[in-house]
Amino acid sequence: MLEVFIQQTQAMRRHVEMLDALFKSATEGIIVVDSWGIIQLANPKAQELFRYEDGELVGKKIELLIPQRYAHKHVDHRMNYAQHPKARSMGGNLDLYAKRKDNTEFPVEISLSPCSTSDGDYVVSFIIDISPRKKQAEALLEAHRQIQLLNTDLEERVQLRTRELAQALEEIEQSKQEVMRALEKERQLNDMKTKFVTIASHEFRTPLATILSSASLIGRYINADEDEKRQKHVQRIKSTVNNLTEILNDFLSLGKLEEGQIRNVPVVFNLSEFCQELVEEMRSVCKENQQIQYIHEGNVDVCIDRHLLKNVLINLLSNATKYSEAGKNIFLRTYKKENSIEFEVQDQGIGIPEQDQSYVFDRFFRAHNSGTIQGTGLGLNIVMKYIQLMQGEIRLESQLNRGTTVYVEIPNC
Ligand code: ADP
Repeated sequence: MLEVFIQQTQAMRRHVEMLDALFKSATEGIIVVDSWGIIQLANPKAQELFRYEDGELVGKKIELLIPQRYAHKHVDHRMNYAQHPKARSMGGNLDLYAKRKDNTEFPVEISLSPCSTSDGDYVVSFIIDISPRKKQAEALLEAHRQIQLLNTDLEERVQLRTRELAQALEEIEQSKQEVMRALEKERQLNDMKTKFVTIASHEFRTPLATILSSASLIGRYINADEDEKRQKHVQRIKSTVNNLTEILNDFLSLGKLEEGQIRNVPVVFNLSEFCQELVEEMRSVCKENQQIQYIHEGNVDVCIDRHLLKNVLINLLSNATKYSEAGKNIFLRTYKKENSIEFEVQDQGIGIPEQDQSYVFDRFFRAHNSGTIQGTGLGLNIVMKYIQLMQGEIRLESQLNRGTTVYVEIPNC
């Protein structure tokens, strides 16, 4: 009997010693509180965590280890737990903090276990300081944040570079197109020069020969009664020189137009007087018994570019005389309307074949019936460009062998 008792006592002592060793060497803080929340036991790790001396915690309220702001709620939580004691972790998903002796705080993870003894009910808390884990998590979070910042920065830089690249590409494309346009213009100019050389060599030869023959004939008419013949040749030389001047003027105008040198500069002037002077100037170009009859309707003050208008009318009136026979009159009519001025140049000449009418404003185009009549096919092209500069419009009506009427409308600025 005694032997059994001794054996039981030894077994119990061993048990207590093992529990004590477990309690003392545990790497988690262990605190045992009674039903009133009074600390009954605190292992060395718990004392170390909360920085208390050995045995200092025993007899103190557990709320001593809880930050002030949570302490009063903790009393309620403790009461609730006493009603439904079961092993569980404390605080649910909340971040828990514990308070050291020096009032500093540290994050903790706590699990609770109820424990009933013959002496009464107790709650055992296992406490882990999770500062290192939190620091690690925060460091990870910070690293993640930095990476995200870097990523955002990188994305922004990539977007910026992409935009810059797109812009650079667009600029390259634009300069490419500009170069292409310049090349195309250059090519057109070269074409024009080539055509000019061809036309000039062809168109200049006949008039120069005419001038030469008329000049040598004049030299031969030495008698006083041959004055009529002399005048006829002087007249021929004058008209041929006019033709040559016209060709040269056309080329000069075209060159200036191509280079964008010509601008629309409207001024106020008396249109009726202007046209009468022009008709007077054109008299030398007219054929025998050919007259330009001018009429104007409406107010005489207009606001147009004089220089451009003069060129347009000279071109249209020269065509009218050139493409009609001697004796056939030419009509110039001008109308001042509310916001524009209308011009009509009418002749009774050879007319333009219907199939050619839509091409007469093209550069170098000459109608099929132009035959030996001198010309370069540039005049109407230049006229159209001048009218476009003045924001006006031009059209013509023509009947073969009956005549042509050109209609021009220019806004009055
Ligand atoms: P050109 O120097 O040949 O006269 P234009 O550009 O002035 O050049 O005219 C183009 C062509 O339109 C002329 O070659 C001619 O065939 C025709 N044309 C222009 N005006 C008249 C007109 N009043 N009557 C008949 N044909 C005309």
